[in-house]
Amino acid sequence: MKELLETVVENCRDSWRQGHVATYIPELAKARADATGIAVWDLSSGLSGAGDTDFTFTMQSVSKVVSLALALSECGEEKVFSAVGMDPLADPFNSIMRLEMDAPHRPHNPLINSGAIVVLSLLPWKESRDRMAAVSDMAARMTGRKAVAVNEAVYLSEKGTSDRNRALAWFLKSVGNLEGDIEDILDAYFRQCSLEVTCGDLAVLGATLAADGTNPVTGERVVSPRVARVVRTIMATCGMYDGSGEFAVTVGIPAKSGVGGGIAAAVPGRMGIGTCGPALDRKGNSVAGLAMLRRLSEELKLRIY
Ligand code: GLN
Repeated sequence: MKELLETVVENCRDSWRQGHVATYIPELAKARADATGIAVWDLSSGLSGAGDTDFTFTMQSVSKVVSLALALSECGEEKVFSAVGMDPLADPFNSIMRLEMDAPHRPHNPLINSGAIVVLSLLPWKESRDRMAAVSDMAARMTGRKAVAVNEAVYLSEKGTSDRNRALAWFLKSVGNLEGDIEDILDAYFRQCSLEVTCGDLAVLGATLAADGTNPVTGERVVSPRVARVVRTIMATCGMYDGSGEFAVTVGIPAKSGVGGGIAAAVPGRMGIGTCGPALDRKGNSVAGLAMLRRLSEELKLRIY
């Protein structure tokens, strides 16, 4: 496996040139654009990695998988999916237009920004601090780490510039689809996006979902098999935003990307995969990550469809 991953990284190292690091969160613009790493947690043989496996980056939207798993476990499917839909969207992850156009103005799925903000608001903790503690605890349990910390610089950078997410949240409040202290919910959202990880952490997170909710590193049952299946399915249909359809055809496994450059993928019953590469395509997906996953899926016949 290690050798295969080395080859995959070598073949995809240059693909970062076709993308650009995110700049709308100023701190993310400082990332090393050419960092390229991949890790696999194989459920039968454990961890292998290649390339920039020590490179740290913020989870950004990959964290939406964590808060969704937590909300499904704490509140149940019925409550979550009456507040957000479960359908993919052909619009960008932070689009306002569709939310306003489609009554009843409910976010189309939990993995776009508006959906993730609503999911956070459902969690049964009132204060941002407690809500965030529960999300970072879930992130630690899914990645098998003792703790996953917030990158303060990225958190403050997003908090200081995120007019678009504020607009989404206040619009949702105006139509009665977001309850609670809006600034407090947004604060927890910015913090969860700033949780810092490596591609190895995302491989374990993916493996936890691939193993029906049991973390293969700690042996802990983190979520129920049903929650793991629902999360994997939403990842498969909505995880790469408006690139989800193409990703399903070219790679064919449940995955979630983030604008920090990470992608976490789960191959049911087989493995979790984490990639990093901060240069993004126009849809906000890591170009190196996409290239590596395409290659690995081909080599190991990972497609689930
Ligand atoms: N924190 C980012 C935002 O809200 C997350 C988006 C992403 O990773 N696609 O814009």
